[in-house]
Amino acid sequence: MQKPQTLLKFIGGVNKDRIGGNCSVIEHTDGQGKTTRVMFDLGSMFTPAESGFVAAYPNVDEYFDRIDLKTKEEIKALKPVEALFLTHAHEDHVGALINYVKMGYKLPPIKAGGFTRNFIRLAFAKEGMSVPEIDKIKAGDIIKFGDSVEVEAVDVSHSIVDSIGFHTLTYVDGKPYAAVMNNGDFLTEENMPVGNSFNAEQYLDVFKRKSAPTNIVCLDSTSTTPSSKERIGFEQAVDNTYQVVKDNLDRNLIISPVISRSVQNIAIDVETARKLGTKIFLDGKWLQTVRDAMMLTGYKDFDDVLYKGNIQGYLSDKKIYPKYIVCTGAFAQGLEDYQNNVGMTAYSPIAMSSAVKMALDLHPYVKIGRNTLVLARQRIINEINGNSGPKMLQLMAAQGAEVVVTPGEKKVGGFREVRMQDSGHANAKAMEKLMSDVKKVVPDIIAIPIHGNPEQCENTKKIMDKVGVKTHITENNESLILGNGRVENVPDKITPMSWYAFKLVMPDPYGNKDVPLDGMTEFWEVTENYEPIRKLAEISNAPKSAPRAKYSLCNKIEDAENLPYREKMRKTSKAKSPKKAKAIKENLRYNLNKRFSKGGR
Ligand SMILES: [Zn+2]
Repeated sequence: MQKPQTLLKFIGGVNKDRIGGNCSVIEHTDGQGKTTRVMFDLGSMFTPAESGFVAAYPNVDEYFDRIDLKTKEEIKALKPVEALFLTHAHEDHVGALINYVKMGYKLPPIKAGGFTRNFIRLAFAKEGMSVPEIDKIKAGDIIKFGDSVEVEAVDVSHSIVDSIGFHTLTYVDGKPYAAVMNNGDFLTEENMPVGNSFNAEQYLDVFKRKSAPTNIVCLDSTSTTPSSKERIGFEQAVDNTYQVVKDNLDRNLIISPVISRSVQNIAIDVETARKLGTKIFLDGKWLQTVRDAMMLTGYKDFDDVLYKGNIQGYLSDKKIYPKYIVCTGAFAQGLEDYQNNVGMTAYSPIAMSSAVKMALDLHPYVKIGRNTLVLARQRIINEINGNSGPKMLQLMAAQGAEVVVTPGEKKVGGFREVRMQDSGHANAKAMEKLMSDVKKVVPDIIAIPIHGNPEQCENTKKIMDKVGVKTHITENNESLILGNGRVENVPDKITPMSWYAFKLVMPDPYGNKDVPLDGMTEFWEVTENYEPIRKLAEISNAPKSAPRAKYSLCNKIEDAENLPYREKMRKTSKAKSPKKAKAIKENLRYNLNKRFSKGGR
């Protein structure tokens, strides 16, 4: 019989040079030799534009059952997981789910907070896919797997609502064996103006109640650089943004590109618009999905400030002044693909964000000009939008826009700098305070820095040295044995790292009518350096079911509280006939072809 042990493995999220792809597994074998596995998060990683891949995912092949798309044969997982726990609905924590299902994988039972659950279900429905079952959980809920593993949910604060941390305790013969706190991404010094909150007392209480011979805490290292500034706080962020607008009263079109799933971003714009007495239009598929998920979950805080109709109605409504468009595009998604001609992505609402369409003058309704003020609230992050972000803003400025940026590590083309937003992750000082408190409760706590490159994880280690907390540095695909008060690397157990990545093969922009409008998605296994190993699957992007099915999503989502909202959704949905949608698409295609044939971009 196998001897009892608890293993912890990061499959993604502790990357060499990129951010994202968060995924970890706890594998516990109890005194009777029974093995239980639980997984935390399954996110996408932001790949470099020159790789040709849009995103990459942790390779979880051995953990999920799947249907081989070619032979239709069912392939059982070698190491099945009992459940997948999701910390929050950011792309780098949940972004792999849809494409794993498209590749034929069967998701294990999923547990997540209310907003996270609704967001994912809406995202699946909007893709015309069947909606996965997700158990809604909240802080304090304990999920037991036999008598050998239990997972407790705990509230954390982050830039998106309903963020949850998970404390896992394993048992051998009825006695605690190892404890792991996975915070996901988190803040401890400030709570979001909407949704659940971090509560230090409750957080420390979990450690108090549940200690084991080995105690681990995984620490989000995104913002633990020693130079990270003190937070300005939500109200100051709103005041600063409002002041920028007041300084530019001659400009009546405000464009605020945000991270679509950052409720914190949206909340600052909503509060600024409230002060200005105007309404916001949310432009971009993912922003609208965030709004719908907020409504379904019962967070209606933004409702009075968000314009309900379509963009044409918004732009022509004389009562709305100034026009304030919050759009997808803080990470300038699609710009480099477009400029490198990797794929013509202007048709795809996922691949090319709204702000990039505006910057390239491809947006069907919004034209940037001398009347435009661009609030570049999200700071530039080298690994994600270090090249494309500044380029996008410069393209906007070249069309006459006044661009104001939040200062970051990188200077962006002489634009005015105003602090308009904080990081959604705990800074060095907050991490130091939190961990000195945790150490008082659990003196032998061991910290594992995650969610960062080696340099960022090293910053967290320095903070831990300062407060006398032991640190264990790990990397992707390395198995750690927990037990007897220690963490050890499993010798010779680092398997070569690979990712599952996808690229979009889009129609020929020069007018080959035989290519389907929606193009293809190719899935590949790639090395750590994004070199292709083998093609996994190739799928048409055209919706499988009739487009009408997409709009019945609110019927599928059970939420008695929101019945009137659902009724409204159903009515608006009826207006969106598939015929009309197709006509709009065809029109966009026609206009683009005209632009190209004229020898434009
Ligand atoms: Zn996050």
